[in-house]
Amino acid sequence: MNNTTLQVDHPTVLIIDDCVDSHRLAERLLGSVGATILNAYSGREGLAMAMARQPDLILLDYQMPDIDGLTVLKFLKGEPTLAAIPIIMVTASDDPQLVVDTFSNGAVDYVRKPFLQSELQARVHATLKMRRMIQDLAAAAQSDALTQLPNRMAFNRQLMRTIFRRDGSKLGGIAILFVDLDRFKLVNDSLGHAIGDRLIQESAKRLQQALTSNPSILRRTHACSVARVGGDEFLVLLEGVVSDADALFVAENLINALSERYTFGTHSFYSSCSIGISASCDNTVQLGADDADRHIRNADIALYEAKSSGRGCARLFDQAMRSRLEDRVRLEGELRAATVNKDFHLVYQPIVQLKTGRIEFVEALIRWDHREQGVVSPSDFIPIAEETGLINEIGAWCMQTALEQFSQWKKCFPLEAPQGININIARQQLIRPRFFEQVTEVVAANHISPSQVHLEITESEMMQDLDFSVEVMRRLRQVGFKIHIDDFGTGYSSLACLNQFPVDTLKIDRSLIANITTDRYAAKLVEFVLRLAQETNVSVIAEGIELDDQARMLEKWGCQFGQGYLMARPMVGESFIPFAKSWNLQHNTGRMRPRRTIRS
Ligand code: C2E
Ligand code: MG
Ligand code: MG
Repeated sequence: MNNTTLQVDHPTVLIIDDCVDSHRLAERLLGSVGATILNAYSGREGLAMAMARQPDLILLDYQMPDIDGLTVLKFLKGEPTLAAIPIIMVTASDDPQLVVDTFSNGAVDYVRKPFLQSELQARVHATLKMRRMIQDLAAAAQSDALTQLPNRMAFNRQLMRTIFRRDGSKLGGIAILFVDLDRFKLVNDSLGHAIGDRLIQESAKRLQQALTSNPSILRRTHACSVARVGGDEFLVLLEGVVSDADALFVAENLINALSERYTFGTHSFYSSCSIGISASCDNTVQLGADDADRHIRNADIALYEAKSSGRGCARLFDQAMRSRLEDRVRLEGELRAATVNKDFHLVYQPIVQLKTGRIEFVEALIRWDHREQGVVSPSDFIPIAEETGLINEIGAWCMQTALEQFSQWKKCFPLEAPQGININIARQQLIRPRFFEQVTEVVAANHISPSQVHLEITESEMMQDLDFSVEVMRRLRQVGFKIHIDDFGTGYSSLACLNQFPVDTLKIDRSLIANITTDRYAAKLVEFVLRLAQETNVSVIAEGIELDDQARMLEKWGCQFGQGYLMARPMVGESFIPFAKSWNLQHNTGRMRPRRTIRS
C-alpha cells in the first residue's frame, strides 16, 4: 500500500501500549501517512487521553501492567462519548480466545506484533475509511439534501440538547418558530417543481442569513438554528430570548426577509410565509424531554392560526388556540359523519326579474342539520368541506337533490316552476376529472335541459387553476349549461378579461350592493360593471338586495335580475311553490312593487 491510499485527512491515532518499541514502529509506519500520533504508555493514561482528545482510532495493546487491554476496551465501549471510536487490538499472542474476546467486546479488528508494515497500514486504513463512511452516513441522515440544512431529526436532537443544557438561570428562554411558505403549491403547480425547489433553497438561505447576520435578531438571542422539516416547512430554535416580544420580533424579521422579491432566470415573483411561535421565556421553569414535543406541537397550532388569519403573519401560541383547534377537529369529524348520513337539506331563494318582479330562477343553498347545534350555515362548514375534500360528496348530493326538486316542480307545477336553477359549485368539484360526466348524467337522469342549470362558481375560485377551470367551463357551456360568476367584485379578476371567460351571468356580490345607496364609489363601480356586462352580452344578477331603493337604482342602471331579502329569504322546498304562486299573482304585470320581507 502506498502513502496516498490513506485517505482520511489527518486522522488522530492513539496508541495505548506499554512497549516503547511498539510506539516507535507504529509511529514510523503511520506518521508517514499523515496521521497525528498520540502516545499513552498505560491503560490509565490511555483512557484519560481518549477522553481528552477523542481520537479517530485507537491501537490498544492487549497485555499491559496496570489495566489490561480487554478492561480498557470494555471501559471505552461503555462510555457513550467514546463508544464510537474504532479500536484495533494489538497482541503478540496466538490464543484464539483472544480473537473472540476482541470482537465480542466491540473492537473492530486486531493486528499481531511484530507489526508488518503493509498489514498495519492496510488495517488502519480500512478502519478509518469505514469510520468516515459511518460519519458521512450519520451526517446525511441528519441533513436535508435540497437545502443542506439540518433535518427534523437533527433539529429534535439540538432542541433536546438545548433543553438539557439550560440550568434555569443564565441561558434565558427558548422559542420555537414554525415557518411555512404561503401558497407554495401554487408556485409548484404554476411555475414547475424546479422553481419550487429553488424557492425552498432561497428561503432556507434567507432564513439562515437573517438568523446569523441581522443585528437586531442577534441582539435578542444568543443562538439560533434553523432546520427544514417538510416540503415548505422550517423550524427555527431561538435560544436566550427573554420575552415573547423578542420571539415575535424575530419572526417579523424573518417574514420580511422572505417577502423580498425572488428572481430565478426569467421568473420573478413575490412569496410570503406564516409563522407559529411557541415560547418559554421564563428561565426559572425547568424543561424536560416532553417539552420539546409540546413546543413543536404548539408552534404548529399557532401556525395554523397564522394561516387562517390571512397568512403572511406570525402568531404566538396561547391555550385558546388549542381549544379552537379542538373545536375545529370535532366539527370536521361531525361533518364527515353528516356527509355519510346526508344530514343536510336545501333551501331555495328566488331570483326575480327586476323590471317585472317575476320569479325567473331559484338558487339552491345548503344547510347542515347538526344534531346538537341545529341548522349550521354553509359559511361555517363549506370551507371545512373544501379543505377536507368532503365537498365533492356534499356537492354531488346538492346537485342531485336540487335537480330532483327542480324536475318535480316542473312536472307538477309547470306554471309556477322557475325557468332555471342555480347551483353553487366549489372549484375542487369543477376540476375533478369526471365532473363534466357526472353533471351531464344527473341532468339527463332528471330530464332537465342543461340550459336550465346555472352553475355558480365564485370569482376568486375561478381565478385559481385558470386554464383548467376555463376549459371545463367551456365544455359545459358547449352542451348548454350556463356559467354564473358568483360573488363578483370580491375576487381579483380584471374586468377587461370578462369577455375572455366563458361566462353567461355575473352575480354582483352583496357587499357591493349593500353600499350603492350610501357610497358613491360602490355605486359607480356597480354601474360600470353593468355597462360593461351589457357591452359584452353578459347578464347580471344583483345579490343581497335588502332595500327598495337598491332595487330601483339597479333597475335604472339596467340590471336584469335581483336576489335578496327584499324579495324573499331562502325557504324550504315545500314552501317554494305556494310562495311563487302568491308572489307571481302580485307581480303579473308591471314593475316590481315594494314588499314585506318574507322569512324562511
Ligand atoms: P352565495 O352563493 O353568494 O349565496 C348567497 C348568500 O347570501 C346566501 O347565504 C343567502 O342566504 C345570502 N343572502 C341572500 N340574500 C341576502 C340578503 O338580502 N342579505 C343578506 N345579508 N344575505 C343574503 P348562505 O345560504 O348562508 O350561503 C353562503 C354561501 O355558502 C353561499 O354564498 C355559497 O357561496 C355557499 N354555499 C351555499 N350552498 C352551497 C352549496 O350547496 N355548495 C357550495 N359549494 N357552496 C354553497
Ligand atoms: Mg351562490
Ligand atoms: Mg354570492
